[in-house]
Amino acid sequence: MNTRCGYVAIIGRPNVGKSTLLNHLLGQKLSITSRKPQTTRHRLLGIKTEGENQIVYVDTPGLHQDRHNAMNRYLNRTASTSIDDVDVVVWLVEALQWTDQEQHILGLLEKSQQPVILAVNKIDKLQDKSKLLPFLDKIAQRYPFIDIFPISALRNTNLQALETNIIKRLPTQPHIFAEDDITDRSERFLVAEIVREKLVRTLGAELPYRLTVQTEHFKQEDGLIHISSVIWVEKSSQKGIIIGKQGQKLKSVGEAARKDINELLGCKTYLQLWVKVKENWSNSEEALQQLGYKDEL
Ligand code: GDP
Ligand code: MG
Repeated sequence: MNTRCGYVAIIGRPNVGKSTLLNHLLGQKLSITSRKPQTTRHRLLGIKTEGENQIVYVDTPGLHQDRHNAMNRYLNRTASTSIDDVDVVVWLVEALQWTDQEQHILGLLEKSQQPVILAVNKIDKLQDKSKLLPFLDKIAQRYPFIDIFPISALRNTNLQALETNIIKRLPTQPHIFAEDDITDRSERFLVAEIVREKLVRTLGAELPYRLTVQTEHFKQEDGLIHISSVIWVEKSSQKGIIIGKQGQKLKSVGEAARKDINELLGCKTYLQLWVKVKENWSNSEEALQQLGYKDEL
């Protein structure tokens, strides 16, 4: 038996480019991305099978130290259990950036003793490339990394080399998923995530931090998929922000989402969006569970 298969966690602080890296490694948009930290809230598998190799990537919410509400505690639990449950960890940092958050993650890795590949992202942004080498040297002394790769997830720089190295670390064993599986998530879930991405991108700073999306109906009829999703917010004053003047904001969110959904599902969709209020959902463990934030172990 020569087949290799294993789990690879992509970890790092919010906004370093984890979801972008996953999408570019897969060659397909699966995980939502944005400039805003904490876009990724769920653990998401991205499965890539090529010949004898199957890599099961695990995209995680960013690790951070703020534990003040139930949502943040959930995000941290999800991200840190991913470290221990995988065969290889890819830790993503940003070129020339070493913050308290990196220091915190280093502590978690030291405890776990897992094999770690360090990927130094966003090298396309560097004005002065001569600073990169000393940065890499310094970081190499902080942990016995298997390897270090300067990359640009956005521009696909050095991703092939990174992936070749990842494959070498996977255990020799039969594949876990079918050859054409790309994720463990349902289409309903992926649709809700796409809507959330468009909200984050359309509303920018106006976006209520505490907002979540749930797909309620998902039905194929007459060659069209009928979808209706609910956008949950915490206060009724936030409804207006999302809907916008004469419904303009919600309309553009819907249009952008529908484009991506059509592409993902490979067929035409009819998408309806509703905005509803559920008070204080993000600080109630019970409401979190109802809305799908369950611990995934
Ligand atoms: P995550 O929170 O770690 O999942 O980060 P995202 O993948 O959502 O990316 C955060 C932001 O960084 C987005 O605006 C991305 O377009 C941007 N980004 C990701 N990778 C790169 C890169 O290699 N170069 C540049 N310039 N931007 C990047
Ligand atoms: Mg992400």
